[in-house]
Amino acid sequence: MEFSSKLLENAVREVSQLPGIGKRTALRLVLHLLRQPAEQTEKLSYALRNLRSEVKYCRSCHNISDTDLCEICVNPKRDESLVCVVEDIRDVMAIENTSQYKGLYHVLGGKISPMDGIGPNNLNISTLVDKVKEGKIREIIFALSSTMEGDTTNFYIYKQIEPYGVTTSTIARGIAIGDELEYADEITLGRSILHRIPFENSLKG
Ligand SMILES: [Zn+2]
Repeated sequence: MEFSSKLLENAVREVSQLPGIGKRTALRLVLHLLRQPAEQTEKLSYALRNLRSEVKYCRSCHNISDTDLCEICVNPKRDESLVCVVEDIRDVMAIENTSQYKGLYHVLGGKISPMDGIGPNNLNISTLVDKVKEGKIREIIFALSSTMEGDTTNFYIYKQIEPYGVTTSTIARGIAIGDELEYADEITLGRSILHRIPFENSLKG
């Protein structure tokens, strides 16, 4: 792509770094921004800059939060003995949308994936095990995707917490979870949380 302007070229290059955005789309977006009032572009760059510099992760569940402890963790109406293990904030949002879950979450920040160089130490697993050791958790619900990486991660965590006698369950398989969790319809997802099954039953062989 030949550019008549270095400024334009730089902006297009940066925007095209975003997932799913090719050079052509990046150019379209950048030209769109140029046509907008300057104030609009200022707002966008301000929001992005602030997001990066101000964002916090909940000290307890690692969800993205504006405060040290997130709104879910400090809510006295939530059952803190019930913890749902998810990959990222999109899963929290999807489950919250169902209004069927009143426990807390634990956001791992990904799945174990040796191919991508992601091991257990790269994820928020040890803090979950610590919570279990403290004895305050009655049940852990696994809500990771039913991919090989999801299964590996579930099993790894299961093995870590098994000695502490905590109940483990998984949301019913056969419905879209994990990578697709954000798209699963709310009724199905809500139902699968209510009718979760013991984790042991989900282990193959
Ligand atoms: Zn939290």
